Amino acid sequence: MDIHEYQAKDLLKRFGVAVPRGGIAYSPEQAVYRASELSGEAWVVKAQIHSGARGKAGGVKLCRSEQEIADAAQWMLGRRLVTHQTGLQGKLVNRLYIEEATDIDQEIYLGFVMDRKLERVVVVASAQGGMEIEEISEEQPDSIIRSVVDPAVGMQAFQAREIAFSLGLEPKVIAQAAKTIMGCYKMMSDLDASMVEINPLVVTGSGEIVALDAKVSFDPNALFRHPDISELRDKSQEDTRETYAADRGLNYIGLDGKIGCIVNGAGLAMATLDMIKMAGGEPANFLDVGGGASPERVLKSFKAVLNDKNVEAILVNIFAGINRCDWIAEGVVLAVKELNLDMPLVVRMSGTNVEEGRKVLAESGLNIETAASLAEAAEKVVSAWKATGQPKLAEAS
Ligand code: GDP
Ligand code: MN
Repeated sequence: MDIHEYQAKDLLKRFGVAVPRGGIAYSPEQAVYRASELSGEAWVVKAQIHSGARGKAGGVKLCRSEQEIADAAQWMLGRRLVTHQTGLQGKLVNRLYIEEATDIDQEIYLGFVMDRKLERVVVVASAQGGMEIEEISEEQPDSIIRSVVDPAVGMQAFQAREIAFSLGLEPKVIAQAAKTIMGCYKMMSDLDASMVEINPLVVTGSGEIVALDAKVSFDPNALFRHPDISELRDKSQEDTRETYAADRGLNYIGLDGKIGCIVNGAGLAMATLDMIKMAGGEPANFLDVGGGASPERVLKSFKAVLNDKNVEAILVNIFAGINRCDWIAEGVVLAVKELNLDMPLVVRMSGTNVEEGRKVLAESGLNIETAASLAEAAEKVVSAWKATGQPKLAEAS
């Protein structure tokens, strides 16, 4: 679960990490008022969305007057900001964070991630802050420092100082940098965060270490231990398609393509996405219907897939072990009838009760294409989708 920057900064502050002063605003008038409370001569208006790279999308603006603050706020509020992390639909800006501007001397990257192979928290740092970590690792791979934390003892002061020294920081800021690193780690482990990213962590003109940005994600499986963190959830930032599916107990992830997928098993679902791409199409979603899926559950899956208005064709791919192809087929027939499905539909089934399943499809009299293999199914759905003429429209728009 992700939280907003201002919420992350509030938590970091409690763990001894210095952050700029700021306040939340929901309107341009409030934004101006927040700035007046902070006093000073320059402020930063920051769109609060669950995404990084807001700066490049116009979501972070340095302002020097009330008018500039009001204009920036007016522009951001109600807008869907599209960054390379949000997907094409972007994320809605409905709150702003107004901060006192910081005088930046140096920008540092500081991240804490779970390394699943090592089963350890790894600190990733670079003196080339401000850029995204992907860019740093491409352009300045040698600048990246990695430090593994031993969970038995946690982050040690000497280890934090070592990271600070490796960043080439001036001796006078080492102590505060080490305190910041210790604080971030303690927050991560005390609150069961899965990721903490401060980019940039800055050295100010007056030699202070300040977290200028903050991104924190939490392990959903540990949220029951932190009711106060659960309350920070902002559903407006989640993919509405995913919220719809999750509320109905479906394992669904939204993607940007046009071909909806209903598959059983996460591995087969991933393979299906690959096959669609190899056949020249783009999948609209990942969906694992799970084992022992009833016709009703298949119907529910169709509803979740069609809840995405971009979907123009559907592929059902079932390899039935504990599933039953006849139940799946009944679900497909039910869905086509109940939802008046009017788009190409290809069904590939194999395994338990496959003959009965094929019979259900054949006897339904509905226009459902079938395929014997996954490759054939992917080819068929992509060519049927192309034959509808939709791809041309998509390209023209
Ligand atoms: P992001 O684009 O979503 O990662 O948002 P950030 O909070 O990291 O802001 C983007 C960039 O804006 C930072 O890397 C800074 O270079 C700049 N920035 C943010 N706050 C300030 C500030 O108070 N003063 C100055 N001079 N620049 C700032
Ligand atoms: Mn940032």
